[in-house]
Amino acid sequence: MLVVKKFGGTSVANKERIFNVAKRCIEDYKKGNQVVVVLSAMGKQTDVLLDMAKDINPKASRRELDMLLTTGEQTSVALMAMAMDSLGVPAVSLNAFQVAMHTTSDYGNSRLKKIDEQRIRFELDNRRIVVITGFQGINSYNDYTTLGRGGSDTTAVALAAALNADACEIYTDVDGVFTADPRVVPNARKLDEITYDEMLELASLGAGVLHNRSVEMAKKYGVQLVVRSSLNTSEGTVVKEESKMEKMLVSGVATDKNVVQFAVEGLENKPGVAFKLFHHLANHNVNVDMILQSVEHGGTQDISFTVTEEMADVAMETLERHGDTSLKCEKITATKEVAKVSVVGAGMMTNPGVAAKMFEALYDAGINIRQISTSEIRVSVLIDEKYTEAAAQAVHEAFSLAD
Ligand code: ADP
Ligand code: ASP
Ligand code: MG
Repeated sequence: MLVVKKFGGTSVANKERIFNVAKRCIEDYKKGNQVVVVLSAMGKQTDVLLDMAKDINPKASRRELDMLLTTGEQTSVALMAMAMDSLGVPAVSLNAFQVAMHTTSDYGNSRLKKIDEQRIRFELDNRRIVVITGFQGINSYNDYTTLGRGGSDTTAVALAAALNADACEIYTDVDGVFTADPRVVPNARKLDEITYDEMLELASLGAGVLHNRSVEMAKKYGVQLVVRSSLNTSEGTVVKEESKMEKMLVSGVATDKNVVQFAVEGLENKPGVAFKLFHHLANHNVNVDMILQSVEHGGTQDISFTVTEEMADVAMETLERHGDTSLKCEKITATKEVAKVSVVGAGMMTNPGVAAKMFEALYDAGINIRQISTSEIRVSVLIDEKYTEAAAQAVHEAFSLAD
């Protein structure tokens, strides 16, 4: 059997945790399995490196940032191989270059295109545990790239797909996927199973337990995932195509504070205005999320939308540059103190009333809704950031998601 085991930052944060992971992997190895281990940088090392960069040059290029960030994962894989070796098991660490994990050319948010199997197979055939850097790749310029924050999950799934692994296990600091972030909703319940589609929505809406691209890739290549704790042996959550369990109306609540709301006021009410606005933003690679267009008032209309905090400055510069000339708007404002709270569930496709129930819970908690967006299997609202936890708890309660 070939298993891919991925461990996140907290799971390898110090010497004791590194040895704990080494032992768990060795258990598998001793059963005769081929073991590929994917690691994140130790603890909060990626944040530490980003702070160092900011201190030296707040406008550092994305290329140099990736060059810096890839050192985090390189440190953890080398230390892990040393730990395994000290326990008498042969192990080899490999980075994105040594494996050859090819990505698109963009820095900071690249996508994996192709993974060469040869070196990994060679090491596995020689009965070594192969410890591979998560989160990083190389592009066609032979530069390091990174896959976006949380991207080690995607490395693990991509490796599982490329190697046709029998299992892909994502070890983290919680017992699995919960009905909400257990740090936000303390009585959240662990799910035994969840479908790719539901997990993809949750991950895209802020449930950081899995990188959303990892779920996308798992669905595409049919890689069944298990999310479980590195600190205990409880069963975890299986992420797969179809859930055996009766479709729950709502399977989870997600929160996302990494949101900035823009309001562009006093736009002309004529064809092409929304096109121009979003065309300018798209030209600067600004990804727009929730969109709301007001009804006409006094001959003009307003459009508001949300972007992530990282894109807020670019969005503002772009809008200001075109505000007087092509857009002809009266006022542009950006509000950072907002958050998105969402409910996700495959069951809502066939059951009306989910949105109403969510809005009622927020009304009862005295929380105002700024904006709403929906898809087949989710409802999201934008609210004031200070109510994030209260809103998540109220909605979680309303759908009886706790035990
Ligand atoms: P790792 O370093 O192992 O990749 P992450 O911090 O990226 O760990 O992801 C695990 C964290 O995800 C948990 O500590 C938890 O706070 C958060 N989280 C958010 N939503 C959920 C959810 N629905 N279920 C479980 N954990 C969640
Ligand atoms: N170390 C990277 C991060 O902190 C990647 C990961 O942990 O998945 O975002
Ligand atoms: Mg993670």
